[in-house]
Amino acid sequence: MRKTAIFPAWGRILRGYRPFLSIEITRECPLRCSGCDAYEPGHLNNERPIRALTEWQGEELVARIFRLVRRFRPLHVSIVGGEPLVHYREMTCLIRQLSTMGIEIQVATRAALPIPAEWTEFQNLQLVVSVDGLQPDHDARRAPATYDRILRHVDGHRIIVHCTVIPRFLAQLDYLKEFAHTWSLQSGVRKIWFSLFTPQIGEYPLERLTPADRTTAIDRIVALRSLYPKVYAPEVVLHGYRHPPAAPSECIFAQTTSCVSADLATWVTPCQLGGRPECSECGCIAGAGLASIGRFKLAGPLNVSDVLAVSKKFGDRFRGGI
Ligand code: SF4
Ligand code: SF4
Repeated sequence: MRKTAIFPAWGRILRGYRPFLSIEITRECPLRCSGCDAYEPGHLNNERPIRALTEWQGEELVARIFRLVRRFRPLHVSIVGGEPLVHYREMTCLIRQLSTMGIEIQVATRAALPIPAEWTEFQNLQLVVSVDGLQPDHDARRAPATYDRILRHVDGHRIIVHCTVIPRFLAQLDYLKEFAHTWSLQSGVRKIWFSLFTPQIGEYPLERLTPADRTTAIDRIVALRSLYPKVYAPEVVLHGYRHPPAAPSECIFAQTTSCVSADLATWVTPCQLGGRPECSECGCIAGAGLASIGRFKLAGPLNVSDVLAVSKKFGDRFRGGI
């Protein structure tokens, strides 16, 4: 979100709207990644698997999304999946119309499919491509979205590379450095983001970081910033990684974002991750950034999140909540 959008976002909250809308535009994905939250049985808290939801297509999909946009009046729309590029035709139409409305759009993809060339004309579009480590690791875990395919599919686009740090990437001292070096050399890469793996409560996959791992990861990311200017890791985000919210009720990201799944009717709660995320180990870059902003002191003991909480209560009462 741009800084200039902070006051409009606050205005939306005061009027009872959530300024951010996240859409799981499809239940389909050509990948089968380990540690993928979307296909876990508990992702949607009604316990229906995402694959059981109705999938919309074509004009019907676009029309239904615009009904949501008119209802929620977001400033920013994130399109996630599954793999959003499954619906690249509908998305082209959608992004074009959202752009003319001045809405910022973020598409999170693994670039398993080609990104349409015409998307380069959209100024309001932020393309975030997830890459899981160096080529041998990534290709083993994310085929068919291999490094070679990603490079072919993003050719001509300006992208943000997003890597979620897991313990395996910390075993080797220079692993993250090599990653930053590799992607910094790509002229189409605008920024490199590092987030930390966020586990679900009571689950202990190999991707779960220990507190010591988190500290190591943050220290290494800090060291990369001066070496590779494309590494985007402002203090505000790192502070959020060091001090995540204790629960969704304290998370500004969760409180200001409506997340809907592939049928465009089932809500994903408490945040984009769905299920029961372990907030105290949150490594979500958006959640961390907003959490830190929420701790800024405004006057005396009053901080931004206090003002947002009061504004949200006021807005929910005014509009009757979502
Ligand atoms: S690409 Fe994303 S949605 Fe598809 S399996 Fe992997 S993590 Fe899940
Ligand atoms: S973004 Fe992080 S802190 Fe916020 S609700 Fe989700 S897991 Fe919890």
